[in-house]
Amino acid sequence: MYIKEDNIFSRSKKGKKGYTILEENASLSLFDKYKDELATFTSNEEPNLPELSEPDVIRHFVRLSNMNYNVDLGFYPLGSCTMKYNPKINEEVASLDGFKELHPEQPDYTVQGALRIMHELATYLAIISGMDAITLEPAAGAHGELTGIKIIKKYHEKNGEKRKYILIPDSAHGTNPASTQLAGYTAKTIKSNDLGMIDIEALQKHLNEEVAGLMVTNPNTLGIFEKDIKQIADMVHAKGALMYMDGANLNALLGYIRPADLGFDVLHFNLHKTFSTPHGGGGPGSGAIGVKAYLKEFLPGYEILKENGRYVKRRHGKNSIGKILAFMGHFTVMVRAYAYIRMIGREHLREIAENAVINANYLKKLVKDAGYKVPYDSITMHEFVASAMQIKKKYGIKALDIAKRLLDFGFHAPTVYFPLIVHEALMIEPTETESKETLEAFAKALKEILKEAEENPEVLKSAPHNTPVGRLNDAYAVKHLRLKYEEKDER
Ligand SMILES: *Cc1c(COP(=O)(O)O)cnc(C)c1O
Repeated sequence: MYIKEDNIFSRSKKGKKGYTILEENASLSLFDKYKDELATFTSNEEPNLPELSEPDVIRHFVRLSNMNYNVDLGFYPLGSCTMKYNPKINEEVASLDGFKELHPEQPDYTVQGALRIMHELATYLAIISGMDAITLEPAAGAHGELTGIKIIKKYHEKNGEKRKYILIPDSAHGTNPASTQLAGYTAKTIKSNDLGMIDIEALQKHLNEEVAGLMVTNPNTLGIFEKDIKQIADMVHAKGALMYMDGANLNALLGYIRPADLGFDVLHFNLHKTFSTPHGGGGPGSGAIGVKAYLKEFLPGYEILKENGRYVKRRHGKNSIGKILAFMGHFTVMVRAYAYIRMIGREHLREIAENAVINANYLKKLVKDAGYKVPYDSITMHEFVASAMQIKKKYGIKALDIAKRLLDFGFHAPTVYFPLIVHEALMIEPTETESKETLEAFAKALKEILKEAEENPEVLKSAPHNTPVGRLNDAYAVKHLRLKYEEKDER
């Protein structure tokens, strides 16, 4: 459905309003009334605000929301992002007044319920991962990486060692090298072998006493489980370096494998992915991290303890890396993760992984049958990466054109051009919450798109056609960033 929606300022009419003020104040505009307060943080000019009635405002925003694609509307095969359906019970629980109206500086005795949730959630995450200590403080996955790498750094420094490098496979998420650099290390790339796993010889070549750690996503972003991970962990530990796990793909392992047992010393969770919080567009999330016992002293912020039946916060000691966030993390994301884990129950968590893996393998088969190539094609975990390289060579149709055309079929696009080691990548993660029918409909759309590539490639090159906004010039948008709307932006 195409709806044209004007900028809210262009709908403004002098004197329209969505409020009534009492008689005795009627001579004052709201601005006059609060002029003194406003003057402390604004200029003394009347702010340029649109004037509208309440229905004008509501309808404007509801119309805008209708233009948006979302996981409550349809399938979101966005590889690496674990865009599962988020149960509505999470939202109900997270919006209870007792949670949503807390202040982070309330005394402990007034927030016992909240502290209990944090304490128990940390316990569940420890059980799930096999790690000995957890912090819920990091604000998202990438922030968890930064926290984890800082812990690794502090550990080496305490041992009187100045190491320089973090090794990262070439299939890694871009946040891995970014966090590494931010923490003060240099990232070194380890290439993958023909099976899409870490090349042991390449690793051996780079491994020495200057290496602080190896950062691994397992299963990796090709959706492949790093089978040699225990051997790799032994090699890394033998050089005094530590093992970091990017746990963004934990959805694939839940209840089956504990990262601690694979030899990892530190991992981050993406609570907003694995444990179901609506996410995208940068947050809010939660990048809780887990560490082995010998790294606990370096954790940031507070630990939440249960003492004599009461919950108390205790600051980590003198070797802590310090605070990494103003307060204690994104609390309502924790509430959602807690509700989700409690709702599913310990016995059934593994069914999440089971169904995520079955769905990914089934969809991979359908996508291959539809005529697409999957370059790294061993058993898939939670996601797989198809390539449009052959289609590009044959018909001049790129992964981007296919992704854009999928929008016309009512699907969100998959992740494209990532991971970098697959050319014209289409990275697809169905998650456990999609039905067989949805997966089949998606594969059918891909098949039709391939037919269009052959018979009518122009329709693909100019797609999407049925969305509120057509094909954007994304390169232009990056180079000429302008956040303010102007009339001439109308297409
Ligand atoms: C999503 C993701 C991250 C980053 O997590 P954010 O919560 O988006 O910061 C890191 N690594 C992988 C593999 C991811 O999929």
